[in-house]
Amino acid sequence: MPGLLEVEVSTSAQTEFIDITEKVRLAAKQLGISSGIVMIYCPHTTGAITINEGADPAVRRDVVAVLNHMVPWNFDYRHLEGNSPAHVKASLIGASEQVIVEDGKLMLGTWQKIFFCEFDGPRKRRIWIKMISA
Ligand code: ZN
Repeated sequence: MPGLLEVEVSTSAQTEFIDITEKVRLAAKQLGISSGIVMIYCPHTTGAITINEGADPAVRRDVVAVLNHMVPWNFDYRHLEGNSPAHVKASLIGASEQVIVEDGKLMLGTWQKIFFCEFDGPRKRRIWIKMISA
């Protein structure tokens, strides 16, 4: 598919945030648009994309801990697959993020990184990256 890149991510825990900033940076470079918007989209119902602090890994750990606290595994869920908490967390975080690209560079704040959020791992996941020239 022209203009669309698929990136693979392997996760190793049930719930974890994986820094995909470099993968997105490389994909943006490959897509060859120097000014525009890059969209990072998760096509999974138990995964998500977010932007948050990447310098201190304790931030990731704390966000995961709060999500696990907010969305308990034991609850009156009806979904027979048994992974409703993962679906709820995916909706809380959201399936995509957009980042401005200027002069071929991702316009992220000093401490910001792009994360793939795994909520029902470990699994092999796909991420779709699309650039819009502007
Ligand atoms: Zn399910």
